[in-house]
Amino acid sequence: MAEPNPFSAELDNLIAALHGELKANTAGELASYIPELAKVPADLFGIAVADPRGRVSSLGDAAHEFTIQSVAKPFAFAMLLDTIGRDATYRSVGVQPSGDPFNAIELDPRTNRPFNPMVNAGAIAVCGRLLQALGPSAFDRLKAKLGDAAGRPLDIDEAVFRSENETGHRNRAIGHLLRAAGVFDVDVEAVLDLYFRQCSIKVTAIDLAMMGVTLANVGTNPVTGREVFGVDPVRDTLSVMFTCGMYNAAGEWSCRVGLPAKSGVGGGIVAVVNRQLGIGVFSPRLDEAGNSVRGQLCCIGLAEDLGLHAFDSTNPGSNFLRAWDHGSNSRR
Ligand code: GLU
Repeated sequence: MAEPNPFSAELDNLIAALHGELKANTAGELASYIPELAKVPADLFGIAVADPRGRVSSLGDAAHEFTIQSVAKPFAFAMLLDTIGRDATYRSVGVQPSGDPFNAIELDPRTNRPFNPMVNAGAIAVCGRLLQALGPSAFDRLKAKLGDAAGRPLDIDEAVFRSENETGHRNRAIGHLLRAAGVFDVDVEAVLDLYFRQCSIKVTAIDLAMMGVTLANVGTNPVTGREVFGVDPVRDTLSVMFTCGMYNAAGEWSCRVGLPAKSGVGGGIVAVVNRQLGIGVFSPRLDEAGNSVRGQLCCIGLAEDLGLHAFDSTNPGSNFLRAWDHGSNSRR
């Protein structure tokens, strides 16, 4: 018989405790800017944690599919860095927090480029540059890239894609602003098609944990062994997730949780413990900043219980895996 896996047993208990505590929390509202997102059952709640040896602990609705929305943004950014290189990428998009709403129709006045790739303007710039570099195969290659990070092929939710496309007037305005500023030199409608498809990719909390641990594992999916992103793109992507990943709560998140992360209006959050863990959480009720209420609390709980904050030197978090493999690492 196989040896019991100590990572799974103890982490399972911790996740079960957090899931039990947070299940009763019904604060927040579903995203409602398109009817499809308002139709998602509000009570869904899944948690998944993966490590660089490919071990996964998960609970609740962790295998339920939802649309990735803005959680795709860091992965598309990493792909662009890999595709056109650092200098060309930074000529198209900055890495500066904007302090403005994620869907602001604006460029950084210092550079005439979007502030960063985690806001819509930056993400649409990334799509434009990917399309310019890869041509009509751009979406298939982007979808395959996210699938390689997750370790399984991914697909899109056609109804969400259609709605995003029909109602995305702000994003269209941003697309034209970018084209006028010379950020990309391809058809705006084709860029938006790529962006709306990217938002509509279906993932699960387990997928997000695997995508997170692929970043934590310096770009290589630990289950398939496939190198998905290069080392330097991963470093830049984690940096920009740390400073800009949680909408206008990114600063509070950095202090409280201390992990690079990205959330989306579909209710997903991916968080990364560098070299150690990927965390994927899904719960569709959002707070005013647009972040999943239970998802954030779950990440706060994991970070506090396991000592994961990047700069907390009084706990074992920076050596999480080593401590885990030599005995309990939980503070519960
Ligand atoms: N499809 C949404 C938009 O572009 C994504 C929003 C998000 O998850 O931040 O507005």
